[in-house]
Amino acid sequence: MLTDVFYSVLKNKCPQCHQTDVFVTHNPFNLKKFDKMHESCSCCGVKYEKEPGFFQGAMYVSYALTAGWFMVTWALDTFLFHSEIWQYITFIVVSMIVLMPLTFRLSRLIWMNFFIHFDKTKSFTFKKHQL
Ligand SMILES: [Zn+2]
Repeated sequence: MLTDVFYSVLKNKCPQCHQTDVFVTHNPFNLKKFDKMHESCSCCGVKYEKEPGFFQGAMYVSYALTAGWFMVTWALDTFLFHSEIWQYITFIVVSMIVLMPLTFRLSRLIWMNFFIHFDKTKSFTFKKHQL
C-alpha cells in the first residue's frame, strides 16, 4: 500500500519489514555518513542492493524529484515573488546543492520500494505476537 511506502521512505525504514534503518544515520545532512547504507536488514534479511548497479535506477527518481522541485519553486516564484531571472537561477542552483543529500537518500529509498514490498509477516512485532 502507498502508506507503507511513505512510512519506509520518510522514516528511513526497511521496505520489507519496517523494523530497521536503511541508512546508518538519520540525519541526511551529516555529510560524512549521509550515503552510508546497511547492506541488508538485520531483522528480515532482505538485501538492499539486489544486484550490482541496482541503485543506478535511483538516478531516474532523483531526476524526477529535482524536476518536481524546479517546477514547484518556479511556479511559486512566477505567481508570488516575481524575482529577477538571475535571482531565481541562483536560488535553484544553491537549493539543489543544499538538498542533494536529501534527494540522494529519498531517491534510493523510493527506488527500493518499487522492488521490495512491505510484508507484515516479516516484521519483528508480528513475529512476537505469533509466539
Ligand atoms: Zn527488514
